[in-house]
Amino acid sequence: MWRQTSHARRVSAQRTDNVQVWSAARAALDGLPHGAGLNIAHEAVDRHVLHGRGGETAIRWLGKKGDRRELTYEQLRDESNRFANLLVGLGVVPGERVFVLLGRVPELYVSVLGALKHRTVVCPLFSSFGPEPIKQRVNLGSASVLVTTAAHYARKIVPIRSELSTLRHVVLVSDDVAPEPEDGVMSWALLMGEASSSYRIGPTSPEDPALLHFTSGTTGTPKGVVHVHEAVVAHHATGTHVLDLRAGDIFWCTADPGWVTGTSYGIVSPLTHGATLIVDEADFDVDRWYGILQSERVNVWYTAPTAIRMLMRAGTKAVRGHDLSALRVVASVGEPLNPEAVIWGRAAYGMDILDNWWQTETGGIMIANRPGLAVKPGSMGVAVPGIEAQILRRDPAGHLEMNDGEPAIEPPGVDGELALRVGWPSMFRAYLGMEDRYRKCFAGSWYRTGDLARIDDDGYFWFVGRADDVIKSAGHLIGPFEVESALMEHAAIAEAGVIGIPDPVIGEVVKAFVVLKQGVVDDPALRRDLMAHARRKLGAVIAPREIVVRNELPHTRSGKIMRRLLKARELEAHG
Ligand code: AMP
Repeated sequence: MWRQTSHARRVSAQRTDNVQVWSAARAALDGLPHGAGLNIAHEAVDRHVLHGRGGETAIRWLGKKGDRRELTYEQLRDESNRFANLLVGLGVVPGERVFVLLGRVPELYVSVLGALKHRTVVCPLFSSFGPEPIKQRVNLGSASVLVTTAAHYARKIVPIRSELSTLRHVVLVSDDVAPEPEDGVMSWALLMGEASSSYRIGPTSPEDPALLHFTSGTTGTPKGVVHVHEAVVAHHATGTHVLDLRAGDIFWCTADPGWVTGTSYGIVSPLTHGATLIVDEADFDVDRWYGILQSERVNVWYTAPTAIRMLMRAGTKAVRGHDLSALRVVASVGEPLNPEAVIWGRAAYGMDILDNWWQTETGGIMIANRPGLAVKPGSMGVAVPGIEAQILRRDPAGHLEMNDGEPAIEPPGVDGELALRVGWPSMFRAYLGMEDRYRKCFAGSWYRTGDLARIDDDGYFWFVGRADDVIKSAGHLIGPFEVESALMEHAAIAEAGVIGIPDPVIGEVVKAFVVLKQGVVDDPALRRDLMAHARRKLGAVIAPREIVVRNELPHTRSGKIMRRLLKARELEAHG
């Protein structure tokens, strides 16, 4: 009884504070000149130039082959202005969707910021996606413009081009492959060369859509998560509270902007703080990473559990040869961070790795271990200032217990569904074109996260698992339905069920079970063909690592594949 009362008291005090946190956070930003609203790109770039910090480095790009490029805030302002003017020149109007399919190159950052200035809605896609996920997302988002490379265009877009009916313009950033002259396909260099470097951002309402990220559910197509310009308030505030970002910091977020972390914290938050972004084009490599931390004198490093587990495998010896004395904060997000990783981090880096929790829909960090708070290894930390998080009571079927229109809240120590009180600035405003699915995310005044967790007496949250079948593999949220659908397009497959199998390094690996059509002969050549089909359609990140042929799959009475049973059997068979 006492425990609940103290818990309730804490909640009520927190609610009053939350309102003040967000108004203070809003006041820390400038807003557009002459009261013209709030625009993410202005807060991230232009205002620093206005405040006389235009000469400071905004982006330090490290190319795969050892080349480097730096952009000052002033140059980033000019380049993003050019891109905004490029869109004007193409006749693209505010509210239209601009998609970016690029690796981590400066043009990606310029496109995202320029698109925000022009008040179009920008969607960065993972460059590792295959044609199928690209097609789905470009069509769901009704993209008008795609910025990509000639190589991606030739390999991934040309085969599906005729199915992308809304796409009017493709802008190709030059790489080794020369673009074929074609209608609607243009050169970045040419268009940017012609575009003016001055652009005045039009009036922007904080509620204007700004960013679009796709996330996966258990069923149906991916969901387009819409964030508005007001999200910048949360990006900036959490940058202060959790990442301790300061002007002039060297900040490295290892996430790709194709994932929401790589946008909210790989672009927006650090730039609003006047930090220098390290942008590494290359993939993970232990020596390269420690080399970057040392030679770039990184102060704040935001990474992910899979990467940390890979670094753990290389051992503390790999760290010792490097001078990481500039590091002030190491934080991690995206999947559960094992307690051993936190303890290892203390030995390896001499500091706590600050695990934190959020998801595409929340737009920013919601629960975190943060500087100045004691870390409990294995816990995701406490609700960040401005956020009220609770655990909702649910039955095994996922139904909440409701009283007077509000869900029942579990006391500390009891598992339930993690929920956030609605109203924070970076809360998603829609699932694009899926009003019903959006509405289902809310119960009373709470947003349901779909994660199972519990809270302890000190207000720390402990992750328990997902309430649905989505798979987390190396930080990527993968919808089994999307993988199953792509497999079903193979002429030999009658039925497919896809699950995640626990993996000590990448969290889960994607495994598919398929039933072949009658008369199809199962032999090694077919198996190879199935794997090749999956990789070609989906890309390496989403494609199953293993495809197993079965005579039948377990079904519910209504005929749905029982992924949970498939998984339970698999785990039992392999201990
Ligand atoms: P995404 O929308 O792709 O960023 O994935 C969000 C999901 O990743 C959450 O709903 C969780 O299931 C998982 N997740 C993110 N951060 C953590 C964390 N610190 N601990 C455990 N799971 C996490």
